[in-house]
Amino acid sequence: MKIAVVGTGYVGLVTGTCLAETGNTVTCVDINQEKVDKMQQGQIPIYEPGLEILFHRTIEQGRLKFTTVLAEAIADAKIIFLALPTPPGADGAADLSFVLGAAKDIAKLVKDYKVVVTKSTVPVGTADKVKKVFAENTSIEVDVVSNPEFLREGVAVEDFMKPDRVVVGTSSEKAKKLMEELYNPYVRSGNPIIFMDERSSELTKYAANSFLATKITFMNEVANLCELVGADVDMVRKGIGSDARIGKRFLFPGVGYGGSCFPKDVQALAKSAAEVNYDFSILNSVMAVNEKQKVVIVEKMRKYYKGDLKGKKFALWGLAFKPETDDIREAPALYIIDELLKDGASIVAYDPEATANVRKLKGDTIGYAKDPYEALEGADALIIVTEWPLFRTPDFDRIEKNLKAKVIFDGRNLYDIQKMIDCGYYYNSIGRKVVE
Ligand code: NAD
Repeated sequence: MKIAVVGTGYVGLVTGTCLAETGNTVTCVDINQEKVDKMQQGQIPIYEPGLEILFHRTIEQGRLKFTTVLAEAIADAKIIFLALPTPPGADGAADLSFVLGAAKDIAKLVKDYKVVVTKSTVPVGTADKVKKVFAENTSIEVDVVSNPEFLREGVAVEDFMKPDRVVVGTSSEKAKKLMEELYNPYVRSGNPIIFMDERSSELTKYAANSFLATKITFMNEVANLCELVGADVDMVRKGIGSDARIGKRFLFPGVGYGGSCFPKDVQALAKSAAEVNYDFSILNSVMAVNEKQKVVIVEKMRKYYKGDLKGKKFALWGLAFKPETDDIREAPALYIIDELLKDGASIVAYDPEATANVRKLKGDTIGYAKDPYEALEGADALIIVTEWPLFRTPDFDRIEKNLKAKVIFDGRNLYDIQKMIDCGYYYNSIGRKVVE
């Protein structure tokens, strides 16, 4: 099938590449000239495990192309995916200007039947708005479909190639058949393509992300309580996670959720509810708790240093909002950095993939190390923010040699408490006993 993908960010590029991988011919279009130039030269603009090999293969085989010209991208395409940003507007609601603007541009260009698929995360009612844009700007038949994306950055290729489910919201039989044909290769093991109406499909995405953010936040609150009552959150996690109704995943406490999706999607769902006079109160609590949790590690540090962080030097491991990505949008590390700098501390950070993105944002306000051990040189403590695999079994002898004091604040509970006792560290993690 001939496909166009509008927007080549994390979702658009993965979608385009993975659709090309199964034999479709895909043209990706983006307004960012620099990004398109890079991709045309065969350079991949993001870090996403497993993507590069498919990216190069599908380009070489002539099934994946890039352009900045919308007309060129959509001319032959039967299906046009919109993978555009939907950032929060000033009032917290999703800003639909990218999606509706692109829809209008496409409407003015279409010459034959198209299926326009919204992959961006959009509030209930957006499909109706997109349909209206087409109705007002063209007389050509266009079906508008909602097809929210559930991929996780870091495992996006796997998630796209073998999705737990594909959700498609449409009221058109013709569009339904095309979507089924397109997605069948990805659900051969029997996972479902769930067809529904557009509104239910749009809400499904927000409900999924908000549920997951709530699950994380619930565990963060359990962890905070564990610290106050002398319980161990690891034990509680195992104890509740083995109940099949609860499940083992998404129960790890930490420094709050971040990323380009959870924060904005929880906010947008609360806002959508408020617009129809429904107080989705659990979401307001989730947002409030997460704000505090993002800097919980700084509070622990302030307590340890008796409120005086001025002149202290800290090593910070992990900048990305989660492992296996270079994405730093809403990353807890950024909030932690701001708080520590405000208190007069200095920071040297290390991250395997996200350093360049943080450097663009924070410049020389912090230092950047080439490897985790360099960051530790002369530091008063180590702070762990992102659970990259290489931080899990580090060389503790080198840590001890490079740190000025044997102090670790661990926002991801990477190390065994007994090991920290045996090694003689001050070790403060989340929801577990403090080793002093
Ligand atoms: P992104 O910011 O990484 O990428 C968006 C891309 O769109 C950018 O390359 C930008 O240059 C381009 N763009 C902007 N306006 C354009 C236009 N008029 N024409 C062509 N290109 C244009 O965003 P993302 O993370 O890929 O997210 C896209 C959507 O998917 C959002 O709604 C997001 O909520 C949703 N989503 C994201 C994820 C994720 O993990 N990132 C997962 C599921 C859903």
